[in-house]
Amino acid sequence: MILFYIILILISLNFIGERWLSYKNHLSRMNPIPASLSDVYSQERYRTYQEYKTASHRFNRWVSVLSFTVTLIMVIYGFTALHFALLSINNELIRGLVFFAILGVGSELLFAPFSIYETFIIEKKYGFTTTSAKTYVTDKLKSWILAILLFGGFYSLIYWLYSMFGSDFWWMAWLVISCVSIFLAFFYSTLIVPLFNKQKPLGPGSLRQRLEQLAQKSGFTIDNIYVMDGSKRSTRANAYFSGFGSKRRIVLYDTLIDKFGDEEIAAVVAHEIGHYRKKHVVFSIILSVMSTGIMFWLFSQLVGRPEIYEAMGIDGKPFYLGIILFGLLYTPVSIMLSLGSNYISRRFEFQADAFASSLHYAINLQKALKKLAADDLTDLTPDPAYVFVHYSHPPLAQRLNHLEKLQ
Ligand SMILES: [Zn+2]
Repeated sequence: MILFYIILILISLNFIGERWLSYKNHLSRMNPIPASLSDVYSQERYRTYQEYKTASHRFNRWVSVLSFTVTLIMVIYGFTALHFALLSINNELIRGLVFFAILGVGSELLFAPFSIYETFIIEKKYGFTTTSAKTYVTDKLKSWILAILLFGGFYSLIYWLYSMFGSDFWWMAWLVISCVSIFLAFFYSTLIVPLFNKQKPLGPGSLRQRLEQLAQKSGFTIDNIYVMDGSKRSTRANAYFSGFGSKRRIVLYDTLIDKFGDEEIAAVVAHEIGHYRKKHVVFSIILSVMSTGIMFWLFSQLVGRPEIYEAMGIDGKPFYLGIILFGLLYTPVSIMLSLGSNYISRRFEFQADAFASSLHYAINLQKALKKLAADDLTDLTPDPAYVFVHYSHPPLAQRLNHLEKLQ
């Protein structure tokens, strides 16, 4: 029974912590803007920024209150009730799949209105959304199919390993899941992205010439630079690096190419090449494989214990409830892991910036970062605690200062 209260306390602490951080971050938006950032927003853009952030802060507050309430209700009553309602299904594998399908559909129905409101009201009002209703619906359908295939496949496999090998299943499951995720990371840009976006190699022209020079200097093959139709959903500009080995590629959003000058784009690409040269992708995959291992091992230690099920008033050890209970108890570990991975990711950003600077792109990268921030209505004075917990990239002021020092 004590476990039941531990779960309730964990959920509540998580909620309170999150709200507190969000509130602190919201207050820090009123702080004066440092001199180095004074030219990011025009006065009018700054007002838009404050309006937008206030609107999205209020919106997120309601969503998180709703999600907290629903989680509490599910823990106190819902999960057990659903389990008893499905007991007539004799096959435990099928019962587990139905159990998760009902949870998935339920949460989708509950949160769909909020997601629609966010995309088509808030993001639209501030000029970010270019998504059509048709794209929105087909995106949803495709991600459902993907989720059903991946989750259904993983669940069935882990369930089968568990029933065959008992608590030894953890390292087999770890091995299989790691292989599949490395496979998916390798083929991400050729298998997953094309489901949602069109990509084509960067065509001839002054930009390509510019990037060819850069590639030559930095040991990257130019064939691996692609342009993606990001404008299909949003006006936000972006670029990223994905894959490894022969599948490595740099992807530029068409929105970046439309709004940025050649030199600024070259600076962004130099930063992305920095991620490649410093082996950040490989390192991130290794980290995620290790944390998956920790997770499976802890799961194997818990899943066989009748006590955790008794906490929910259930005899026997239905595997799907084991997953739910483990998920709830795992929260503190997953928060620690995410703090660690965000910290490392912020270090990586500094390293990639330093790489771009070593190729003499510091000034253009600074320009590009400011433009990206203005475009995105980024927080210029985020709260340090909020940054520590949530930011995978250092705040703009820190990146600009870092580049300033490198010059
Ligand atoms: Zn980066």
